[in-house]
Amino acid sequence: MKAVVFHDVGDIRLEDVREPAMQAETDAIVRLTSSAICGTDLHMVRGTMCGMKPGTVLGHEGVGIVEEIGKGVRNLRIGERVVIASTIACGYCSYCRSGYYAQCDNANPNGKSAGTAFFGGPKDTGSFNGLQAEYARIPFANVGLLKLPREVEDDEAILISDIFPTGYFGADIAGIKPGDTVAIWGCGPVGQFAIASALLMDAGRVLAIDQHPSRLDMAQAQGAETINFEEEDPTQMIQQMTGGIGVDRAIDCVGVDAQRPHSGPAAKEANAKAGEYKKEVSEIAKETNPKDGNWVPGDAPSQVLQWAVKSLAKAGTLSIIGVYPMTAKTFPIGMAMNKNLTINMGNCNHRKYIPKLVRMVRNGTVRPSLVLTQKEPVTDAIEAYKAFDKREAGWIKVELVPKNAMSRV
Ligand SMILES: [Zn+2]
Ligand SMILES: [Zn+2]
Repeated sequence: MKAVVFHDVGDIRLEDVREPAMQAETDAIVRLTSSAICGTDLHMVRGTMCGMKPGTVLGHEGVGIVEEIGKGVRNLRIGERVVIASTIACGYCSYCRSGYYAQCDNANPNGKSAGTAFFGGPKDTGSFNGLQAEYARIPFANVGLLKLPREVEDDEAILISDIFPTGYFGADIAGIKPGDTVAIWGCGPVGQFAIASALLMDAGRVLAIDQHPSRLDMAQAQGAETINFEEEDPTQMIQQMTGGIGVDRAIDCVGVDAQRPHSGPAAKEANAKAGEYKKEVSEIAKETNPKDGNWVPGDAPSQVLQWAVKSLAKAGTLSIIGVYPMTAKTFPIGMAMNKNLTINMGNCNHRKYIPKLVRMVRNGTVRPSLVLTQKEPVTDAIEAYKAFDKREAGWIKVELVPKNAMSRV
């Protein structure tokens, strides 16, 4: 089968690989009808999330049809359409039972304390083959696969695999109350869903910050008030827009590959810190391999955290869902402590939110596909990765359609 395979930092290839086989009674094999590229995939190709095993199939977003199921999977049948939760969870440990699926005790073969298990990730996450492929093995399929009603089409469902739940999780742990003013840092795909989710939770105002006009346009179309950090100083602007108070909640939807401003009034301060940021990058990404403008790590890993903490009102809440690797260590602890901030963060507990989001799409409350800007055959995956990595105008979210479902493209 065709799949996107990680070879090295800066080296991913579309290749023919062996189809996956069942390994446990609780497994299922899914034939994918839709997959997607996530910003998290880029962290691995850029080298800002290291430890990938060469040969791992990338991708952690998928929708498909159940092809094979083990005896231990009693809630699914062959032929059913399903959405796949990005993170893998057993469903029976105490963490899963209380909704912390991303902290499952049993899903990660490296042990209870190894961290979140997910498809297509580094060794630490279990080295599970990912979903940018024609078929995938899904462990604990009774928990990780959710049946899709007919009305929820692939273009909607693919966004419920990872990024919509992640945005929703970010808004949930930010503790948004009706009327709150919420800052969303980063208007990539997860940022767009954090905006949508904040509005679903009746945020009074949503301020959205990014530097890419096409992303800001999409944020504004959803109802956010936008700030371009290469044209204005975002923390000053937030103070001005909030009567000098700051925002009640802030959500970091960027993570380790944050970029600092290179133009506009905020560039001066960021330039002055260039040395510090460079040191952060070198500590985080031991190996990088930029090529022709692709796979370049962000040049200011802690930039968003600095801005987010600075722009929060006293006693506000910071929610961090942007991905940071274990090697990231810079956080403005003093400023946060002295403002009595609450900080919630982590990997999304996908399985906790997916059933609810499927219902919301089915009843027409939300249309996640509005965030989908490209639909490419998986055979063009590498080109699509490059365009998404360069944050080319209009490239917000890319759906990949496997060869066997190509007639839909
Ligand atoms: Zn993702
Ligand atoms: Zn578990």
